[in-house]
Amino acid sequence: MQQVTVNNLEVRKANRNRIYRYIHQKKQVSKQEIAHALRMSLPTVTQNLKDLMDQSLVTEAGMLESTGGRKAAAYSCDFSVKTAVGLDITKNHIGAVVVDLKGNVLCHRRIRCAFSKTEEYFKQISELVESILQESRVSTTSVTGVGIAVPAIVSNNHQEMNYSPALGETDCKLSDFSAYLPYPCTLFNDANAAGFAETWDHSDIGNIAYLSLNFTVGGAILLDSRVYGGENRRSAEFGHMTIVPDGRRCYCGQHGCADAYLSAQRLAECADGSVAGFFDQLKQGDPACGEIWKDYVAALALMVNNLRMVFDCRVVIGGYVGSYIEEFLDEVAEAVAEKNPFERDGSYLSACNYRLEATAVGAALQYIDRFIKAI
Ligand SMILES: [Zn+2]
Repeated sequence: MQQVTVNNLEVRKANRNRIYRYIHQKKQVSKQEIAHALRMSLPTVTQNLKDLMDQSLVTEAGMLESTGGRKAAAYSCDFSVKTAVGLDITKNHIGAVVVDLKGNVLCHRRIRCAFSKTEEYFKQISELVESILQESRVSTTSVTGVGIAVPAIVSNNHQEMNYSPALGETDCKLSDFSAYLPYPCTLFNDANAAGFAETWDHSDIGNIAYLSLNFTVGGAILLDSRVYGGENRRSAEFGHMTIVPDGRRCYCGQHGCADAYLSAQRLAECADGSVAGFFDQLKQGDPACGEIWKDYVAALALMVNNLRMVFDCRVVIGGYVGSYIEEFLDEVAEAVAEKNPFERDGSYLSACNYRLEATAVGAALQYIDRFIKAI
């Protein structure tokens, strides 16, 4: 008997979740449309809609236009009921965003703040979070959590980080970052967070290999929108794949790593440290930038082709370079196609969708994703 009750509760919860997700995908839907699309009875939909409205997750939103017959009441999600904060920790900056249940960025900010394992630094993180929450005018009770993205290998339990040449610290814990934050907090690897943002709420995109081209090179492998972390949480360390035997020296100590050829730093160096500046000069036909770019595209084509050969899935270029590469994508795709024995074009290649604080957004979305799965 007890087993039956538990199962009924589980079925009801699963139905509620499917209904919520369906409305989440649409702007406005009628009860009848939900029942039809999800093959549920109208009483089941009615009861679950009531549950969702009691939790303020769904609201009635006027009447839907009808092609005939009676107009139907419309339902839509209130995305503002819950929010999450995402932080992108880098050597000299902190990026911060507040997102809602749809992944809309309600507020974003980037401050210059050099990383240091000190009380002062961690207090500054807390001040930044409170300040953007105030600016976005959301209540602190709406905050499901703070996702903290770090340029480091993050342990399986998301409590510890290690190997972070970028931050120069190897023994930081989540408890250091969360010491002054009155919200649930979790650590995430930065590239995994950015890759997660690319596929979240885009179930049609499928699997992706996300190549993150920042001042260091990294990446993420997303299978059915889930990060494949590897056995030691070191998957997709694309930056340390050897692309030139005995080639340039990498910061890791090895030679010929992809990082030494594809770091955004290489481009920024020709434009006073600015990646945006580099692409501006490139568009204006600056010969020095043109030379570097030719070299860069050759290395990028090699790398993208390797990823395609290994994963046979969409390859997304992200990071600083990904934000500016859209109009140069054909050129890269052409170079990639020349290396591919199976495909004549590089149409599997794309630029990242999230260009603004992708890493911080991805870290925040982990909390939003958890919340929605638990509805
Ligand atoms: Zn390396």
